[in-house]
Amino acid sequence: MRGADITKKLPAFSLKWRFSPEYYRHSTDMLNTALNKIAVYDSWKALDPGPDYPIDVRFAAMPSLTKKDIRDHFPQGMLPPEFDLNRGLAGGEIELVSTSGTTDEKITNIWNQRWWDASERSSWRFNSNFDKIAYDEHREAILANPRNTGFISDDLDLPMDKRRLARFLYLNEKTDPTTWSKALMNRMVKELGVFQPEVLEANPSLLARLCRFVSNNNLSVFQPAAIVFTYEYITRIEYRQIRDVFNSPMISSYGTTETGYVFTECEAGRFHQNTDFCRVDFEPFKKEWGGPQTGRILVTPFNNPWCYFIRFDAGDLATLEESGQCPCGRNSGIILSSINGRKANLTLTVEGRPVTLYELDEAMSRLEGIEQYKLAQNGHRTYELHLVSRIHEKKQLVPEAQKTLKGLYGTGAMINICFDDDFPPEISGKSLISRALFPIDLDKYLE
Ligand SMILES: [Zn+2]
Repeated sequence: MRGADITKKLPAFSLKWRFSPEYYRHSTDMLNTALNKIAVYDSWKALDPGPDYPIDVRFAAMPSLTKKDIRDHFPQGMLPPEFDLNRGLAGGEIELVSTSGTTDEKITNIWNQRWWDASERSSWRFNSNFDKIAYDEHREAILANPRNTGFISDDLDLPMDKRRLARFLYLNEKTDPTTWSKALMNRMVKELGVFQPEVLEANPSLLARLCRFVSNNNLSVFQPAAIVFTYEYITRIEYRQIRDVFNSPMISSYGTTETGYVFTECEAGRFHQNTDFCRVDFEPFKKEWGGPQTGRILVTPFNNPWCYFIRFDAGDLATLEESGQCPCGRNSGIILSSINGRKANLTLTVEGRPVTLYELDEAMSRLEGIEQYKLAQNGHRTYELHLVSRIHEKKQLVPEAQKTLKGLYGTGAMINICFDDDFPPEISGKSLISRALFPIDLDKYLE
């Protein structure tokens, strides 16, 4: 095949970004090992155009690896035959971890702490605010749902020393943050002052909750050198609530248990790919459905001898930085202008166009007087918006919220608005801000 023909077959997005020869070597090694040695990929072999083709073309010809594939083949069908899971477990090199969530989300993975730490360390270099303070032993406070990390104790409050682990302090042991008492939140504020973490890592919904308490009570709080958001999408409303309390640099980090650290937000607010630790393939939405800059990302982790995920679909959507460049000057790998939430957060306009959480959140951020929101789409034209608001004249919010959502979903949208006192998290421990209560077939909207 002549060069020009091959270029035509390359996915358009891949031409914009720069990758090192190492990156292509890792990509090639991963795909060859997967196709030749690992059972879950048996049916993929027939789709491979072969080693004469550029690796990006070969990857683009492959399907995606789903959580269901992993569940169906775990453990031996996910590993080369010579790998002995029991030996790895007995030697302490790896552990098994189950992620929380609904049956569809739940999955057992091999956890390789050394690889995870290395992936994390590699991600720091994309943000100088973080890079200059992070070292292997930096003190880190974590405000997360203990279903995701930490120690669960819903009945008894645990003393500080029972929530320490190595260089970490877990500030929260309750699975339902709506049960946080004033005493518990005062304790969190006090412990930040005592522990003086260099980094505060947080679920944005939990940190926003603590910040509302701090603001309402005019408390002063210790300022860490950096705040890192993980686990959840951060809404603009939450960002403002946190910014009211903290002047620390704030960094969003995107990754999953399965993929390690994939994208890190730089000082210029773009997201840079952790190219030493993963390959990312991007599948754009069709133009009429919001593409081609917005699409789904598929991740192939590198360097983990216990993980051979090819084009793993964690269900995340993102928008490429259209210029292909970032003001920060870092120019290796894919650059995103935004992470747009997950497939599970998608809703549809009355005309059937998919709306990402990012787009919904932009509209919702224009409404004043809202503390939290949640949107469920019940049917193709019916939407239910739940609001938490502390303002006296809540009724005033109804026409404004309806106007905002009709602007986004269409004038034919039927929008029911309810006021709630608070929102508990999902069974996964994370907050779920938007969703459709009917299945959305994402593939239908992708190129
Ligand atoms: Zn940048």
